[in-house]
Amino acid sequence: MTTPLDALPLRDDLRGRQPYGAPQLHVPVELNVNENTHPIPEDVARDIIERIAASLLTINRYPDREFTELRQALARYLGHGLTEANIWAANGSNEVLQHILQAFGGPGRRVLGFPPTYSMHSIIASSTGTEWVEGERDPGYQISPETAVRWIEQTDPDLVFFCAPNNPTGTPLPLETIEAAYEAARGVVVVDEAYEEFAPAGTPNALSLLPGRQRLLVSRTMSKAFAFAGARLGYLAADPAVADALRLVRLPYHLSALTQAAAVAALDHTPEMLAMVDDIKRQRDRIVERLGELGYEVWPTASNFVLFGGVDDPEALFEWLLARGIIIRNLGIPNHLRVSAGTEAETTAFLDAMAEYTAR
Ligand code: PMP
Repeated sequence: MTTPLDALPLRDDLRGRQPYGAPQLHVPVELNVNENTHPIPEDVARDIIERIAASLLTINRYPDREFTELRQALARYLGHGLTEANIWAANGSNEVLQHILQAFGGPGRRVLGFPPTYSMHSIIASSTGTEWVEGERDPGYQISPETAVRWIEQTDPDLVFFCAPNNPTGTPLPLETIEAAYEAARGVVVVDEAYEEFAPAGTPNALSLLPGRQRLLVSRTMSKAFAFAGARLGYLAADPAVADALRLVRLPYHLSALTQAAAVAALDHTPEMLAMVDDIKRQRDRIVERLGELGYEVWPTASNFVLFGGVDDPEALFEWLLARGIIIRNLGIPNHLRVSAGTEAETTAFLDAMAEYTAR
């Protein structure tokens, strides 16, 4: 007999909520959670192992609570004149977002988001007792400066969450929208740039807006472009005062010595770690082109995934692909599915299966 959740003295505001639930099935072609499906280079893996091994020699001690070396390496990677004082990090950008909501949200406060967007934004809002309010996007999943300002004026949020490029639609976000939102909002403006490295070369990102904007927070992750999802390392760039605010809510020693060693080693190999980004972009562009040829409605994407519409029965197509060892994502957007770009072979397997399904 299992105890029903209702039998527990759970917080009232958590009753009836659903946990994050992307299916975690192991099949030959996994293109469902926007991971980087390219393994990290072997020489980098060896260097990471050596650094982890070295950190094990002092594992009886707590890790550097300030993860200074890691913050220095992340600041170097981001450039834009940032230093370690501007950087925060945690176990995945999910935890960074949780720290933000713990420090700037909470009971009696509200965060404005623009669905469809990354599902964890509203889930972390709920787990931190922050009210989640929804603005509407313009046609084509865009958010113009005027639309952002209108929703901020209507809802007076304590936080505004943007996702650029947006998951699950792939839509880029104009810097003008962030600038206008920042001017209109009294609270913090968070730009989740988890997929920034997959945008076309030369696309401006929100880091360039940081100077003089102490309420602007730009969140990033090593999970995607760096192929480091299993290591759990997300980070943030902002005014140094923001890092001080987040220190108030983090648990002491939240980043293990092993995580810090692994991430610093990976950042030392940035060019090799990012070498596969170009291939992933090529595979994404193949998906865009081929699904278009097959007659699907393909949304423009600056990310490592593609949202496509024109699917009569998304659940049926999802199951049909799954039966052939290919998993993609059904996010409940009517007539749409999302697929992550894989290796060349994985992408080919997906596209061949789509051609077969469409020709039936
Ligand atoms: N932000 C966005 C937009 C994402 O899609 C994801 C992962 N799917 C994350 C943040 C969280 O990534 P992580 O915790 O692995 O850094």
